[in-house]
Amino acid sequence: SVKRQGGNGHAFFDAVQEEELREELTMARELRESIKNRELELVYQPKMDARTLQVTGVEALLRWRHATLGMVSPSRFIPIAERYGLIDPIGDWVADTALTQAARWREMGLRMRVAINVSGYQMRSDEFIDRLEKGLRRHRLRPERFTCEITESVAMEHATVTGRAFRRLGALGVHVSIDDFGTGYSSLAALRQLPAQELKIDRAFVADVATSVEAQAIVRAVVEMARVLQMKVVAEGVETVAQRDQLVAMGCDELQGYLFAKPMTALAIEVLAAEPDTSTEGRTEGFRPSIFVETAA
Ligand code: C2E
Ligand code: MG
Ligand code: MG
Ligand code: MG
Repeated sequence: SVKRQGGNGHAFFDAVQEEELREELTMARELRESIKNRELELVYQPKMDARTLQVTGVEALLRWRHATLGMVSPSRFIPIAERYGLIDPIGDWVADTALTQAARWREMGLRMRVAINVSGYQMRSDEFIDRLEKGLRRHRLRPERFTCEITESVAMEHATVTGRAFRRLGALGVHVSIDDFGTGYSSLAALRQLPAQELKIDRAFVADVATSVEAQAIVRAVVEMARVLQMKVVAEGVETVAQRDQLVAMGCDELQGYLFAKPMTALAIEVLAAEPDTSTEGRTEGFRPSIFVETAA
C-alpha cells in the first residue's frame, strides 16, 4: 500500500506529474501538426525466410523527426496519439504511405509483402478497414501481399471486436499478424477465435532463447500452437548467430532483427534489391538478406 509522504513529498510528486503532463500536452499539440509539417517517416525492416534468407517482406515502422527533440520513438508518441485522438489521422497516414510504397515496389518488380503496425483503436474502427480496402483498390494491390500487425495484449483485451475486425480483413485477403506474442498468455482456444496468419514471438523470448530453458520452452510452445492453427511463426529482434541457430532448429519460419537488417529507408530497400542474390551464401556464413526481383513487372 502507498504510504503518505507528508506535505512536501506530495508537493514534489505533484510538480513532477504536472511537468510530465505539460510535456505530454506539448507533444500532443506538436504531433497534431506532424503530418502537415512532413515530420513523419516510415522505415522498413526486412523479414527473412529462416532457411534461405530470402526477404519475404518488410515491416513498416513509424518515425517522428521532431524539430528540436530529434527522432522520437513510436513507443513514446503512439500512446500519446491514442490518448489525444490523433491515432486515426496518423494511422491513415501510415497505411496510405505504406500502400503507396508497396505499389511502387510492385512496379519495380520487388516480390515481397508489406506489413504495417495497427493500434487497437484503429483495429476496432470499421472506417480504418473501409479506408484500407479503398486504398488497396486505388493502388491496385493484391491484399494477400499486405499484412496488419497487432499486439497480442491489445488483440486479446478486446477479443470479440478484434475477432470481427480480423475476419473482415481475412475476407478482404489481408493477412493478420499477432505481434509481441507470448507476453499475454493466450491459450490455444483464445487464439482459435482470432483468425490470423502469423504469430510474432516477442523479442524478450528471442533475447533469451540461446541461454534460458524457459525461453526455449515458450518458443517451442508458440511454434507448436502455430502449427496446430496453420500459422506462420516469425521471431523478431534476432541479434546473434546463437539465437538464429536455436530459432531455426525450433522451426521458426521467418526471422527479423539487427543480425540481418536494421529498419531502413525505402531507398535502402531498393538498393538491397538491386544487389546480387546472396541467399545461398546466407545458409552458411553471410547474413545478407536478398530480395527477389521479378523480370518484367
Ligand atoms: P514492434 O512492432 O514489435 O516492432 C519491433 C521493434 O523492435 C521496432 O522498434 C524495431 O525497430 C525494433 N527491432 C527490430 N529488430 C531489433 C533487434 O534486433 N534488436 C532490438 N533491440 N530491437 C529491434 P520501433 O521501430 O522503435 O517500434 C516500437 C513499437 O512501436 C513497435 O513494436 C510497434 O508496436 C510500434 N509502432 C511502430 N510503428 C508503428 C505504427 O506505424 N503504428 C502503430 N500503431 N504502432 C507502431
Ligand atoms: Mg510489429
Ligand atoms: Mg513486435
Ligand atoms: Mg513491440
